Amino acid sequence: MSRPVGRFAPTPSGRMHLGNVFAGMIAWLSVKSRGGSMVLRMEDLDTQRTSGEYAEVLRKDLQWLGLTWDLETPPQSSRSGVYDKYFRQLEELGLLYPCYCTRSQLHSVNAPHLSDGTYVYPGTCRNLTPRQQADFGRDPAWRVTVPDKEWTVEDLVQGTYRENLSTHCGDFVVRRADGVYVYQLAVTVDDGEAGVTEVVRGMDLLSSAPRQMYLQSLFGFSHPAYGHVPMLLAADGRRLSKRDKDMDLGYLQTCMKPEMLLGLLAYHANLLDSPEAISARELAGEFAWEKLKKEDICIDVSSFVS
Ligand code: GLU
Repeated sequence: MSRPVGRFAPTPSGRMHLGNVFAGMIAWLSVKSRGGSMVLRMEDLDTQRTSGEYAEVLRKDLQWLGLTWDLETPPQSSRSGVYDKYFRQLEELGLLYPCYCTRSQLHSVNAPHLSDGTYVYPGTCRNLTPRQQADFGRDPAWRVTVPDKEWTVEDLVQGTYRENLSTHCGDFVVRRADGVYVYQLAVTVDDGEAGVTEVVRGMDLLSSAPRQMYLQSLFGFSHPAYGHVPMLLAADGRRLSKRDKDMDLGYLQTCMKPEMLLGLLAYHANLLDSPEAISARELAGEFAWEKLKKEDICIDVSSFVS
């Protein structure tokens, strides 16, 4: 079997929190336990929220943890010319159309939503005439039409996940009205061009996988393996986020060594029998997808900092 290629795809909008560290650790362990390589890419499409300084801090944080990478590919903010090329492919396939719906139209209470609140685009702008399009007098977002087809993700953690894009999200935006490409397109192109063979990230992104698989099939990329790891929750059941300053790496570095942090996370994830200090390299020898806990992981902050 050829060697796996994994990736870290952090958004440099703040310090890593424990959830990011956990997903990054599992991505690294999976690849390194089989002699593969890791690609690092900064996902900085949102230039308002991201910065080069945060990107530098993220690199230092990964190094501190011993989660090394073999190659860093250019940040997304520098690749709009590349994304243009793939956008034109979709255009040539006749799969794109301009959408003039406003944010308030899309999010109105009358808009179609699934029971979990997911918005399903009903195709409002799909059949506008050129005249109607011109009458809006402003730049549109661009949507890709989706087929009525079920996509199956054989997830390394979550098992089989099925989704039909036409009923789950409808035609989705690939380029915003301000010309910025969206995450789904950028991530598909970047993973595909970097030859990524496995995508390991938080469970919250599982429902993005079918959209990415669809774009992969249009662009001619092979589908990577997917592993969507459990979310880390604070003791009160909240998801950890970048707002939890007490759980970001800046704070955690002041109270513990990287080996202790990795050991605690690995223990909570069922990879170790006891919370002992262990390096990323040593932990790679303990890694197996079958051992990894599937349910959300509740973290008692005090157990980390005492
Ligand atoms: N950039 C995303 C994040 O930091 C991750 C996207 C991905 O792994 O596909 O949450």
